Amino acid sequence: MNVQSYYKKLQEINKLAVSPRIIESGQGAYLTINGKELLNFCSSHYLGLAVDERLKKAVKDAVDKYGVGTGYRTLAGTHVLHIELEKAIAQLKGTEAAVVFTSAYMANCAAIQTIIGKEDIVISDELNHASIIDAIRLSQVKNKFIYKHTDAKSLEEQLKQASLLAQTPKSDGKTPVILIITDGVFSMDGDLAPLPQIVKLAKKYGALTMVDDAHGEGVLGKGGRGIVDHFGLLGKVDIEIGSLSKAFSTIGGFIAGKKTLIDFYNQKARQRLFSIALTIPDTAAALEAVRILQESDAVVKKLWDNVSYIKSEFKKLGFDVGHSQTPITPVMLGDEEIAKKFSVRLFEEGIFATPIVFPMVAKDKARIRVIPSAIHSKKDLDFAIKAFEKVAKELKVL
Ligand SMILES: *Cc1c(COP(=O)(O)O)cnc(C)c1O
Repeated sequence: MNVQSYYKKLQEINKLAVSPRIIESGQGAYLTINGKELLNFCSSHYLGLAVDERLKKAVKDAVDKYGVGTGYRTLAGTHVLHIELEKAIAQLKGTEAAVVFTSAYMANCAAIQTIIGKEDIVISDELNHASIIDAIRLSQVKNKFIYKHTDAKSLEEQLKQASLLAQTPKSDGKTPVILIITDGVFSMDGDLAPLPQIVKLAKKYGALTMVDDAHGEGVLGKGGRGIVDHFGLLGKVDIEIGSLSKAFSTIGGFIAGKKTLIDFYNQKARQRLFSIALTIPDTAAALEAVRILQESDAVVKKLWDNVSYIKSEFKKLGFDVGHSQTPITPVMLGDEEIAKKFSVRLFEEGIFATPIVFPMVAKDKARIRVIPSAIHSKKDLDFAIKAFEKVAKELKVL
């Protein structure tokens, strides 16, 4: 191959890239870009914990006491803070145990790759998160079934085929594992997986269940315990994945479930054996975030008050806000160019809300995705609603 022309090709592709906005402040209710203060409507820090004084203090105290770095979990990297964090997460989720990783992407890879081999079977929602898709690839599983988005009927059709396949033992004589995998909250539309039906079907066909609750923790269920609690299914989902980067506003991911399963992951997950553990500041911040949720559900209530308010005001104005069941509020615009223009005009009006366009969503489903947080005041929301109305009238989309 001609290396020079290879780099040239890369250069051409790179030219098309849109460079991201550079944030010069913390990720609070507002943020600063190019010296301009903007209302923050696009981070997944649902509870505003990214700038919370309690998290800042927990990090400073932990760093003073323990320093920064840790190590590999199985060698010398399991710290008392990791154990405390895992206990706190399990307690919050209502599971027997939990294990943390450096991201939910890693947790998904570990959760699937460790228990699924070439001859097992996975059944996955067609709109599952990219990290799930990659994790399935990593497992090298041959039998992949995809069901229609949140469609229990389609899932059952796939399960029927899967359970026929599972009657033939693997080459080692063992029965193939069937694993159903779904996002809890789908982050483009804010809709939920039909978890009660999934659990019921899994039982009927002898399958394990896995839900990635990255956008559900800190948001759904009693005091933000997540989607499993929301549906009253505690103990009924085998594998729960969480991210510490969304509502918890730090970094990291976890698997929560029965102790036997978590012990197995602790022993075998390559993402834990061959990759570094969370650092001290990350672990301390995440632990404080989980504790804040355990102490009170006030912040989660405030989030939902804000969500109800902004959704109902948008609807009153005539916006189509989709069928979200979560704080993710898509303001549907359809046309990609309009969505981009809308976002630019909002920026000028002092609001940071990014357009979501193809390939993240279908070509005619462009939108502005609005994510209010618990630390927005009513005044902040009213300011935003006015700006949306003004821009929509200008662009003639209302
Ligand atoms: C954000 C997200 C992830 C990735 O989380 P990280 O902790 O940032 O790796 C995984 N799954 C879903 C459903 C997500 O929304």
